[in-house]
Amino acid sequence: MRILIKGLSDERFHRPLVNIANLFEEDSEVMFEPSELDDGLIMEFSWKEENGMVEASGHIDGSDITSRFSRDVPESLNDKERWKQIKNTVLSVYLHLLQEHTGMTQKWGILTGIRPTKLLHKMLREGMSKEDAHAALKRDYLIHDEKINLMQEIVDRQLKAIPDLYDLQQEVSIYIGIPFCPTKCAYCTFPAYAIKGQAGRVGTFLFGLHYEMQKMGAWLKEHGIKVTTVYFGGGTPTSITAEEMDLLYEEMYRSFPDVKHIREVTVEAGRPDTISPDKLEVLNRYNIDRISINPQSYENETLKAIGRHHSVEETIEKYHLSRQYGMNNINMDLIIGLPGEGLKEFQHSLQQTKELKPESLTVHTLSFKRASEMTRNKEKYQVADREEITRMMDEAVSWTKAHQYHPYYLYRQKNILGNLENVGYSLDGQESLYNIIIMEEVQTIIGIGCGAASKFIDPRSGKITQYANPKDPKSYNDRYEQYTEEKIQFLESLFISHV
Ligand code: SF4
Repeated sequence: MRILIKGLSDERFHRPLVNIANLFEEDSEVMFEPSELDDGLIMEFSWKEENGMVEASGHIDGSDITSRFSRDVPESLNDKERWKQIKNTVLSVYLHLLQEHTGMTQKWGILTGIRPTKLLHKMLREGMSKEDAHAALKRDYLIHDEKINLMQEIVDRQLKAIPDLYDLQQEVSIYIGIPFCPTKCAYCTFPAYAIKGQAGRVGTFLFGLHYEMQKMGAWLKEHGIKVTTVYFGGGTPTSITAEEMDLLYEEMYRSFPDVKHIREVTVEAGRPDTISPDKLEVLNRYNIDRISINPQSYENETLKAIGRHHSVEETIEKYHLSRQYGMNNINMDLIIGLPGEGLKEFQHSLQQTKELKPESLTVHTLSFKRASEMTRNKEKYQVADREEITRMMDEAVSWTKAHQYHPYYLYRQKNILGNLENVGYSLDGQESLYNIIIMEEVQTIIGIGCGAASKFIDPRSGKITQYANPKDPKSYNDRYEQYTEEKIQFLESLFISHV
């Protein structure tokens, strides 16, 4: 879609205008006056603020599609809040024009770039009643009731799973990134390097990782800062050998403070082809019982097409094996909209899930991330259309409800098929605490290892500073000491200097 916007020269409008256009059609081209456009939509806007109100209107040239919105702008608002009211009013006009033009409805309204549940948590923490918060989401962002109810259900679940969710700022969680996988999947943009033939590099990487764990652990111990959750991700952390895993968990127990206090340790065992009895034994020995085994699909053809290099049968076999070895909190990921898949295939995946009954189920919607093989060769991969994707998502919603899985976190991504969301579901009391903490950004997460992103959250102001370790093992191996030191500096500035 190509759009020329007239009448909105303030650059603060531009990014959200592009983001909203992309909800209707990815990679939309949005231009602003002056520009020559010989085809596409020309939209004209005007807005004014007077007598404590902002009024905005717009129309599409050459059509009878018009729209008008107004909102209060009380004098008590500060500049930032005032601008937000103005911007949301203009964006509401814009969304309405695009909906009329395309016939598509955006159930998330004009909300882009903000985590939906984080927004609702914020409103409730500021003392708004649920009713007022819901009314504001509807009025200010044009979010539909269905999504508001989903947000509320998730917020309630999260507070049930972590009653002290708003008081975790003085603790941290730790993410440990292990950047190796048996092979690289076609849709993947994670730091994941095929492990075969990399023995030397893996060894050096693990040396650096142990170093980071020791240094971070020592710093946390010294300052009496506790760890709430630990998450081993990647890559696939079970790609390394059982001996290497053993040494790593031993290091965790030795270096991290008060390990018994840690509420949850998760290890992604995403690729079933990495799971073996000796590795499960190691997990068991260290009391790690929350793992993720990710089928993604229960169609062998699909798995082959996306480069997973394991079969459906292997997923099922490894699932049962994990149960035998005492894994009693297993998550499984499914992806809606994989190439060649429609409602029928997705129903089959849900049927299989019913038989296995994992404690939690994460339903992703395929997203074409820029760096993936799938995006680079998009024409090779046929994916379902928007209506079918929506039907699959609806199926996920009704199926999970019927089988006692409750939604407990959600996030949206750019370029996600059908502008849908990724939702984590779990049986009662089996929510992943780490997932809640990272989604709602309630405490500092220290990322160690390859591709690990740290989020430093100022316990006083809530200000977030991101810090990313490099994605490739070579760069990490060259400079892990420096990355460790820089992160410790951050921690010092947040937790120590202001005490
Ligand atoms: S298993 Fe996960 S991390 Fe590894 S290549 Fe596939 S999607 Fe990427």
